[in-house]
Amino acid sequence: MMNYDHITLPSADIPVSREVDVLVIGGGASGIAAAIAAAQGGASTLIVEQRGFLGGMGTLALVPAFCPFTDKEKPIIRGLGLKLMDRMKEACDPGYREEYRELLDWVPIDPEVLKRVYDDAILESGVTPLFHTFVYDVVLSQDGRNVEGVIIVNKTGRSFIRCRYIIDCTGDGDIAALSGVPFQKGGEAGELQPGSMCYLLANVDRPKFNAFLMETGDTGQLHRTVEKAMAEGALPEGRKSISGLAWISDYLVGVNFGHVFGVDGTKAEELTRGAIEGRRTAERQLQFFRSYVPGFEHAHLVASGEQLGIRETRRIQGDYMLTVEDFLAARSFPDDIARNAYYIDIHLATSKSDMTFNHLPPGVSHGVPYRIMLPVGINNLWVAGRSVSSDRAVQGSLRVMPNCFSMGQACGTAAALALRDGGDSRSISIPELHYRLLAQDVWLGGNFTPADDAGVMEGKRL
Ligand SMILES: Cc1cc2nc3c(=O)[nH]c(=O)nc-3n(C[C@H](O)[C@H](O)[C@H](O)COP(=O)(O)OP(=O)(O)OC[C@H]3O[C@@H](n4cnc5c(N)ncnc54)[C@H](O)[C@@H]3O)c2cc1C
Repeated sequence: MMNYDHITLPSADIPVSREVDVLVIGGGASGIAAAIAAAQGGASTLIVEQRGFLGGMGTLALVPAFCPFTDKEKPIIRGLGLKLMDRMKEACDPGYREEYRELLDWVPIDPEVLKRVYDDAILESGVTPLFHTFVYDVVLSQDGRNVEGVIIVNKTGRSFIRCRYIIDCTGDGDIAALSGVPFQKGGEAGELQPGSMCYLLANVDRPKFNAFLMETGDTGQLHRTVEKAMAEGALPEGRKSISGLAWISDYLVGVNFGHVFGVDGTKAEELTRGAIEGRRTAERQLQFFRSYVPGFEHAHLVASGEQLGIRETRRIQGDYMLTVEDFLAARSFPDDIARNAYYIDIHLATSKSDMTFNHLPPGVSHGVPYRIMLPVGINNLWVAGRSVSSDRAVQGSLRVMPNCFSMGQACGTAAALALRDGGDSRSISIPELHYRLLAQDVWLGGNFTPADDAGVMEGKRL
């Protein structure tokens, strides 16, 4: 049957291609950590990823560096995320290792090395990866309170994957949205943080660039050069600071500079426009670098992101919504699964608007409660990563990769616990979750002592 707007497909028999304990959708920082933690907890675990590699924004969008793992005094994100970053450092060239071995904040990403490190880590932990596969629907139980599995599409065809538990690490909350979980997208008027097309420039001369930065003895040299280029029409008006130049070697640098506005990362048409506009922006910036910035005269653009980097889409409604008040008060919660100290970093929605920054003092962090990863109404689904339940300001802080690792690790650990007990996401013992996370080197705060009782959803803080 057909009308002008829709067609009705005949009902289809879809083969069941797999059956697993824990199904992780999305292979970014949150998905990798979730899958490894679930497998290490004893669950048969499958990770489904639409690209041919893991890493999410850190590899597919060439985001050039890991945000801080410290609160400016000590490492506060210490579990799987820190281990994976250390593995990437060890797998890099000797020069890189030498320079960055001790660095914990703004560590440059070598995307090809990182992809291989993630492959190895996933396989070693016993997780089964399934790449080149997109999840486009879910099947709910009759009462609508559990996800029974997902419908995938890939070169092999369409099929159903059955699961006991599922962790949504799509960055966009796709699985939660398909399951009917309420969500918010962007600000009051639907405005979204802009995207950025990140890229890699080879054949650059870092010593020469550094000498140029030192010429005036202050830090404003690059900023002034961008201002000059904008005044002369060599760059469009917009943000003047080049926030990310991440030096992988003296001749190779990752760049995060400028914005593409008005792209909703949950819409293919807008991602298409964003990709084209992003590549045009990168080409224009390349010409700027060559003409204006010493050390970049012979720069060669070797790769841009496979996709425009997306900072913000859906924020799901969870059992708790973490707010800016919680952030500013550095609040702790009985069900904390991690700490966060990254500043509120909101890139505003048009070229005329500015950025919002809000820093906690050095040494101060707030708790990240388990409940922000529990989507309302569904019992066997967790959401980890940049679409967890928070207000918009806190999303501007929680969204970065170190936090995504922490949240993913907690969800994977919780899913393995639920599997062992035959329970669900809300019936697990929070003290036991704490014990398990601590045993995996997760840091839950200087004063944190796990409860010695096994009460459900009760932690204890001294
Ligand atoms: C321009 C830019 C600069 C940034 N700078 C930094 C920085 O310097 N440092 C930092 O730490 N963070 C930075 N961030 C933030 C950070 O990169 C992301 O917020 C973070 O990677 C989110 O992790 P995630 O696991 O939630 O999702 P993602 O990294 O987005 O991963 C989601 C994965 O799920 C897959 N997927 C999505 N939907 C489906 C589906 N339906 N089926 C199958 N697979 C699916 C995607 O292909 C992707 O691999 C930046 C982000 C941007 C955009």
